[in-house]
Amino acid sequence: MIDVLESKSLDYKTLHNGIADKLLERFLRYAQIFTTSNEAAASDKTPSTDCQWDLIRLLEKELKALGIKDVHVDEHGFLIARIPGNLPASKQVKTIGFMAHVDTNEDAPGENVRPIVHNAYDGGIIRLANNVVLDPAEFPLLRKYTGETIITTDGNTLLGADDKAGIAAIVSAADWLLSHPDIPHGEIEIIFTPDEETGMGMNRFPIESLKSSCCVTVDGGEEGVLECECYYASKADITFAGKVIHPGTARGKLINAATMAGEYIALLPRNESPEATDGRYGCYWPHKVSGGLERTELIVLLRSFDRKDMDRRKKALRKFGRAVEAAFPGGGVDIQFTDQYFNMKEEIDKHPRLMDCLRKAYRLAEIDPIERPIRGGTDGSRLTAMGIPTPNVFTGGQNFHGRYEWVALPAITRSAAVLLNFAAIWPEL
Ligand SMILES: [Zn+2]
Repeated sequence: MIDVLESKSLDYKTLHNGIADKLLERFLRYAQIFTTSNEAAASDKTPSTDCQWDLIRLLEKELKALGIKDVHVDEHGFLIARIPGNLPASKQVKTIGFMAHVDTNEDAPGENVRPIVHNAYDGGIIRLANNVVLDPAEFPLLRKYTGETIITTDGNTLLGADDKAGIAAIVSAADWLLSHPDIPHGEIEIIFTPDEETGMGMNRFPIESLKSSCCVTVDGGEEGVLECECYYASKADITFAGKVIHPGTARGKLINAATMAGEYIALLPRNESPEATDGRYGCYWPHKVSGGLERTELIVLLRSFDRKDMDRRKKALRKFGRAVEAAFPGGGVDIQFTDQYFNMKEEIDKHPRLMDCLRKAYRLAEIDPIERPIRGGTDGSRLTAMGIPTPNVFTGGQNFHGRYEWVALPAITRSAAVLLNFAAIWPEL
């Protein structure tokens, strides 16, 4: 087996020192670019917001400046770049892909991001604007990086380590590979996507342009985590139909759709909500209510790691609908299900070599992989459903989607080291 670090007589520390400064500078540059996506607009257009083009175009330019000739951006903002392999003709291997998303989540402000770099972090409490306090007592992972460089928000916005830390890791790994042509590797695709946070970007993914036989998303959190399992996710659009009568003469006649929706939500088991579950427990997640007396619409999201359990949850939602109809004679409940994504483990299990290779890539970067399920989905789960197995690699980012977001620089460099090891050992396995 070729060890990318050994073959260059480099240990991880040397690699870290070789890429850390540039990686930090890249990350800060990307983080300051406003790329918030918009779920409401995402079904009509990709990218859902024009500002995402600023980062897409910058990345296109930067990858070309690194010397990558084959860089293509399609009309929906999907960037695919290819680094040619350098193996002898007798040792050709299948293409692998590194993937990350350019957008940030709209739940927290993402404009005017001003990251704060804490060099040689002292392990203490960090106080930011808006009473945002990062206390190691509440976020114990901070202590692991005492003495290291960490990056936080200024308290006014999110940081966008999700997923600009992933982008910085990928670009830095590509930079290292291109400036060290003696590291043997097959063809590598770099894929940057818009609108991941809306869950709809991948609807327009140009799958026919992709050559990779397998990919990794670099979109995970805690350093060391390796994810190949996610939810089965389904959305229930539930419509309550009532009958409007003036309240003065409503007795025995008015059927209030808003009250029906309230009754329905009360039937959802509270101990199976996202706020009451973790680990491998699935959940019912009432997500949005809109409407009035005559017609009220409710969205309930279903999440489960198990296909049969998902079917059981769908049946339960139908039963609750019949119960509400019985309690409101004359009122109607209609339920439509849309499957959103599938547990990628089903597909990834068919490719044991991929996970073996990733575990080795982690160990070569001096980390024991922590394998646990994602309580969510990634672009990788969508890509896996399209037939390209795509597990998820950590970025080191913490407290995604808010003002408490932070990331440690050595965690991002280690993520880049995992990608380099993956590229180097893929041909050898
Ligand atoms: Zn992400």
